[in-house]
Order: sequence, then structure tokens, then C-alpha cells
Amino acid sequence: MNNRIKQLTTLLIIGLCTCGCAQNTNHAKYVFYFIGDGMGLSHISLTEAYLAANNGEIGNTPLNFTQFPVIGLSSTYSIGNFITESSAAGTALSTGEKTTNSALGVRPDSTHLRSISYMIHDAGYSIGIVSNVSIDHATPAAFYACSPSRSDYYGIALQLPLTGFEFFGGGGFIRPSGRDKDQPSVYESITDAGYAIARGVGSYQLVKEGASKMFYTQDEGVEGDLPYAIDRTENSLTLPLVVEAAIDFLYNPKGKGFFLMSEGGKIDWAAHSNDAKTTILEVLDFADAINLAITFYNQHPNETLIVVTADHETGGLALGAKNGYNLFFDVLKTQTTSVDTDKSIAQAVTLSNQEARIGWTTTSHTGVSVPIFAIGVGSEKFSGQMDNTDIPKKICAAMGISFNQQ
Ligand SMILES: [Zn+2]
Repeated sequence: MNNRIKQLTTLLIIGLCTCGCAQNTNHAKYVFYFIGDGMGLSHISLTEAYLAANNGEIGNTPLNFTQFPVIGLSSTYSIGNFITESSAAGTALSTGEKTTNSALGVRPDSTHLRSISYMIHDAGYSIGIVSNVSIDHATPAAFYACSPSRSDYYGIALQLPLTGFEFFGGGGFIRPSGRDKDQPSVYESITDAGYAIARGVGSYQLVKEGASKMFYTQDEGVEGDLPYAIDRTENSLTLPLVVEAAIDFLYNPKGKGFFLMSEGGKIDWAAHSNDAKTTILEVLDFADAINLAITFYNQHPNETLIVVTADHETGGLALGAKNGYNLFFDVLKTQTTSVDTDKSIAQAVTLSNQEARIGWTTTSHTGVSVPIFAIGVGSEKFSGQMDNTDIPKKICAAMGISFNQQ
């Protein structure tokens, strides 16, 4: 080989290596997928207007995630319905395929779909699934379970310990021992599968040592969703506390990376109840959880991707109702519990929402598109108009993992 050919060959090898290396470093190693259940653009704008009003101003005080550099828009319809619900939407967001309302992780013909959590886990990454509603609820369940019915809570719960996923956290189970409470406790299966179980605030720190898989939930005997932010006590487990534990557990500088799905599940519940103050505090709590991911991103900016979106809008929430060109947040100040906790305040809350000029068109969902906010490695993929089924595919692409639906 003459010198010129040698030089060219060396250049070619260096070139190939640089391209290869650059591609590798361009993939997201740590991925946060935040789903605000029912969180439409109005829920976000309402919360920003509320923050501004607290400072005596008219305007939008930005939430942390609305400052992300990439913003997109996602359609949400399901098969057979323009207005989706959380299992069909969760299935789209986790498997990249649409299904019918109330189906979970399965096609309309009940054949199983594969969540990206399995694709990412198979590629060697650690997986975390977190929610402030029960972990067998539609959105978190869409990331690990398959069932023709989202209401098959016990059947869904039994699939959790089979996943081998590293971290589950938040609310416990709706039916830990089955519909008639006569089945073996799902916690037995979880323990048998090698999970450490941490129960109650602070317990995670006590049991994490040496644990390879973790289930972090509320105090012994307390099952189901975590309390609303407006209702919580100092002993309440919260979404930010669980996300903080998840990051601590999943992060391993020598590991391949992680994928953490975190759901703010009770934005939807508060909006179903047309309860504006509770909705606002849930959005703020969700933003507090996202703040932990932003802190992590700031420490690992070249390896981290954060995607924040919603599964659908709930409540037909409007900023502006009846006549007039202002909102009046002062009337919300006296409310200190959620309507769901204290039904006796329902009428007062309806009136205060009206006085504040906050409107609701429904106690169910609407079909309006939802926003997507993204920052970090691969975030540019989430710009523009897309369908909810595109989002998991883009996450896999950002991670350099082939998306492979059965
Ligand atoms: Zn809902």
C-alpha cells in the first residue's frame, strides 16, 4: 500500500469512527416520560395565570416545563371514538398503536401489543413506572400490562411482578387480593419476584440497600391513589417523593441508562370533578416532580431527554366563562380541600369556579389535541403536529433503540 492510500485509509477509518461515536453520544441514555393525565393546554394556562395572580399580576408565570425549547401538538383520538380515555390513550403512548376505549395494551381483537418499556428493557436499560394514582390504573398499567379491559385490576396487577422492571412506585393496588378479596395478595407475587417493598414516606431510604428491584408505595394497609396535593398531610407520599426515589434507584453511572415514566394521574380526577383549585395544585405538584428531572438533566445535559405530554384533556376547561374579560382567583383562596374529599363543598366550588370565570363543559374528557414539551437529546423530534402513537416511536428513536411492535 503506498503512502497516499494508507493516508486515505486512515482518514476513512477515523471518519467512520467519528461518525459512529458521534451517533452513539447523540442517543439519549436517560429518558423521562411525564404524562399529565387529563392535562390540556387550559390546565397549564390556568395554573400559570394562578401563579401570576398570586403575585398580583395578570399574565402567565411560566411553569418549568413550558420553558422547554421544543413544543409539539398531539392528536388523541382512539379507534371508534374521537374522544379517548386513559387506557386507549395510554396504549397509544406506550405501544405506538391505537386501540378502542377501555382496552389496555391490546388491539381491538385482543391480541397483545408491546409497550416500549419492554423494548427498552430488552435493550439493557433500567425501567421505572411511577404514578400518584394506583399502579394498576390505566396509564401506568399501559406500560407493563395487557388486558381487554382496564377494569381487570387484579389481572393487571398480577402482570407487574412478571416484568422484571426495576422500579414501581406511587399508589398501590385497587384490588390487591382480587375482586372478592379471596385471592393471594399481589404483594406476595411481588416479593417472590425479588422486589424490595418500601411502605410509607422515608421507607425507600431504609430498604434500598442491596435491592435490585423496588416497589415503593404508601403505608401498610393504605392502598390506591395518593392524596391530592390540596388534601395531603406531612405523612403523605407524593409524586415528587416517588420520582426522587426512582431517579436515585435507577441511576447507575456504570449502567446502560434508564427510562422512567411518571404519571400525574390526579390532574384528570380533579378535572372530572370540575374542581379548579384542586386541578391547579395537581399541575403544580406535577411540575415539582418534573423539576427533579430538570435537575438531573442539568447534571447530564448531553445524555438526557425529558418529554412532557398528556393523554387527553379532561373537563373542557376554559379560561373565561359567562361574560367579562378577566379571571378572579381570589375566590378560590378559601378552598382548602378537594371536592372529592368533602362532597359538602361541591356547590360552593361550582359557584367559586363560576365567579372566577373558570368554565367547564363536561365532567368527562374532550377530544382537543394536547401539547408536548421536550428538552435534551433527541428533543427536536417532538416539534410540530403528530399523533399520540408517534411519541413512543420517537422516544425509541431518540434512544437509538429499534421500535419493534409484534
Ligand atoms: Zn379521566
